[in-house]
Amino acid sequence: MPEVMRAELWHAMADAAGLIRADGSIGETVYGEMTALAARTGAVNLGQGAPGTDAPPELIEAAADAMRAGFNQYAPGQGHPQFLRAVAEQRRRDFSQPVDPDQVLFTCGATEALTASILALVPRGGTVLTFEPCYDAYPAAVTAAGGSLVTVPVLPHPDGGFAPDWDLFDEVVAATHPSLIIVNTPHNPTGFVFAAGDLERIGAAAAAADAWVLTDEVYEQLVLEGTHVPPATAIADPSRVVTVSSAGKSWNATGWKIGWVIADPEVREAIQAVKQFLTFTSGGPLQIAMAAMLEGRSRFVAENRASLQARAEVLVDACRSVPGALASIPAAGYFTVMDFSGLTDLDAFAVNELLAERFCLVGIPVPALCREGSAAHQAYRASIRYSFCKSPADVDRAAGLFRTLAAELEKDPHLLRD
Ligand code: PMP
Ligand code: GLN
Repeated sequence: MPEVMRAELWHAMADAAGLIRADGSIGETVYGEMTALAARTGAVNLGQGAPGTDAPPELIEAAADAMRAGFNQYAPGQGHPQFLRAVAEQRRRDFSQPVDPDQVLFTCGATEALTASILALVPRGGTVLTFEPCYDAYPAAVTAAGGSLVTVPVLPHPDGGFAPDWDLFDEVVAATHPSLIIVNTPHNPTGFVFAAGDLERIGAAAAAADAWVLTDEVYEQLVLEGTHVPPATAIADPSRVVTVSSAGKSWNATGWKIGWVIADPEVREAIQAVKQFLTFTSGGPLQIAMAAMLEGRSRFVAENRASLQARAEVLVDACRSVPGALASIPAAGYFTVMDFSGLTDLDAFAVNELLAERFCLVGIPVPALCREGSAAHQAYRASIRYSFCKSPADVDRAAGLFRTLAAELEKDPHLLRD
């Protein structure tokens, strides 16, 4: 067998995402690992942000209709025209973002949109700046592009929310002149929603460095407190903004992998030039079905947001009953972040194992979304992300388990010490 290590990129990409084990082999992603931990211990899996409730029947009907209508062959490389028009219409209607269908590119989820954009826009040796913790695809794609990643932490704020370290942001931009700045708003895992003023600041920094701004807005419809502001509507020069989003979270259809890029036609073409050799095209009939939803014929998104809000309240109330731990009240998204550092010196991985074994609770240790040795890694050393997008039954069961943990800690405050 040829030597697999003689090509290095695959290994470097996995390494950038923190997946290389001590013996050099490649580990599972943290999502797979935590799903396995939950299965092994019989715990409620509050790990991966995969909805525990289904996609709406009207979406499934629309897909069946599209298949029956014969949309079963390759879609055009840019995407079905109906889909491109629907994304443009949805952006205008929901966020007052003017978009021409020629700016839109269909992608296989936000993941392909992000990777293709990074490969297309980052020069070899260029610097990419993002906020940390961050989605694991960013470091891997930046490595594939031959770039280097610098990060600015989003940290717990004394008011109970989160905030980026803005002074550090200014310093890092001035010192590294990034080619591209990735802005994930609403932010996974903190739920931090970048305000218009924050985005103006990022836009000014990007203009000074002549950088692109690449957005990741997959939680755009799941703002529970405040409003989602697309960076392209707040940044003074929208031509440097590449907007990415997807339908998975808004429509409980993460398995469909329906995503999109919005950029000036010339930039969209550059990204498409990369994307066409990753998948060329995918999801033909699903594009048609999603186009019908994005045109606004369903009430599902609003209903789902209200239902998520109710589940968030149930879970977060229970998390906040645990004495000595701090659980965030999410402004958006799927997650609460719970800091156990007041209760133990153990790190988040060890606390997660212990809670799986003894209380049937599994989440995602936040350090897995951070880079070894960073300020964010240190700040979230003992923090675990819990998803409330699970079924109401799972959320209720988890809330009961957190209350049991709270009661046990009242009896023995040293319970999590080792
Ligand atoms: N970005 C963030 C912040 C995410 O949490 C996820 C996971 N849903 C993605 C991108 C990937 O989205 P998709 O499933 O559409 O590829
Ligand atoms: N985005 C989801 C999360 O953060 C799922 C990610 C994945 O499975 N790759 O949990």
